[in-house]
Amino acid sequence: MSAAQGDPGDQVSAGPGDGAAPPDAQEYAGELGGFVLARGAVDRMSVRRGDNDWLAAAWADPRTRVLVLDNARALVRFGDKEAELILVPPSEAPDGLRFLLGVDDAGAAYFGVMGPPGCLDSLIKDVEVPAGDSPAAEQDAAQQDAAEQDATGQETARQAAPEAEEPAEEASGEEASEDETPEQEAPEQQTVTEQVAWLARARPGLRPAGLREAAALLNDRDAGLFTHAVALANWHATHTHCPRCGTPTVTVAAGHAQRCPADGSEHFPRIDPAVIMLVTDPDDRCLLARNRRWPERRVSILAGFVEPGEAAEQAVAREVEEETGIAVTRVRYVGSQPWPMPQSLMLGFRAAAVGELELRVDDDEIAEANWYSREELRRALAAREILLPPPVSIAHRLIESWYGEELPGVW
Ligand SMILES: [Zn+2]
Repeated sequence: MSAAQGDPGDQVSAGPGDGAAPPDAQEYAGELGGFVLARGAVDRMSVRRGDNDWLAAAWADPRTRVLVLDNARALVRFGDKEAELILVPPSEAPDGLRFLLGVDDAGAAYFGVMGPPGCLDSLIKDVEVPAGDSPAAEQDAAQQDAAEQDATGQETARQAAPEAEEPAEEASGEEASEDETPEQEAPEQQTVTEQVAWLARARPGLRPAGLREAAALLNDRDAGLFTHAVALANWHATHTHCPRCGTPTVTVAAGHAQRCPADGSEHFPRIDPAVIMLVTDPDDRCLLARNRRWPERRVSILAGFVEPGEAAEQAVAREVEEETGIAVTRVRYVGSQPWPMPQSLMLGFRAAAVGELELRVDDDEIAEANWYSREELRRALAAREILLPPPVSIAHRLIESWYGEELPGVW
């Protein structure tokens, strides 16, 4: 990090430490870091959101870059083992609702723009396509958003990450893709890192992609920009009128608030806190369950929304008891990541089971639940009896932290 060298974005707070170099993003993580969507490398510049002169100057600056969104997807160039966002100068961005994402160490500003449907397809034509891109991959790219679900070539139904379906309404943010067919079989028994790299190689080139597919391959800056932009876009897409009087709102604060022109009320992006918890028993076995709405074999740790008037720790205990009949103690927060599909903040916890360990699943929500030792998990994954959530999810990271090393294979 070199932000302390001076910020052309002027008068940016140096952040904690006041004059010292800002800490790395990792240093802002909780006890457990390494969450794919909890990254970022730009100053969000919240102090400038109401400064229209500054915003206009930033938009006119030739260094400024714009992340164009179409229905929460962006244009991504997938390379061999990584991916990058395609960011365009303001002059090439379509018209649409605009929000400030931040300013980097070099003083370049970043905006997001919600373009009209299909805008990414026309953007592709404007962006250089390097030789070697697969025409086939581009051709069907418009329908493909969740390649991460399908590394094995065996799961054809969409498998949203557990965070995407538990809490329930999170699945609604992105379109499903029902008929994905990878061009080749992924090798078996590979690590998740290898699978992610395989996905990039299997479908290289330039295409619209969602957070779930691209985030794990993006660098810190791009992952942070994309997550921030998707969160704002999903809010704007579903909150267009004043909740008090029904008048259409106007966007203010560089896209981070709305104001009602009739009654003057201000409205801010809605974020739904949800807890997700890795529960262990006295033998240090891990509790994994399958939600009734998930495909066969998909399992994860338990999760649920925090209810009104409830602390996060209380929500952990309540959800575990409701879904499996297990009582927990030592509920301990370990870290969080945004999950803007459409608007959650996932709060990660560890908890210890006490008392009766027999699992009594709530048949409404949970189809099955089991305790796994590390060896049992290793065997079940190797035999493809179960699939774990993808690396972009906080669930994956929590399970990995308990497992003690990179999780083997298959999701
Ligand atoms: Zn109103």
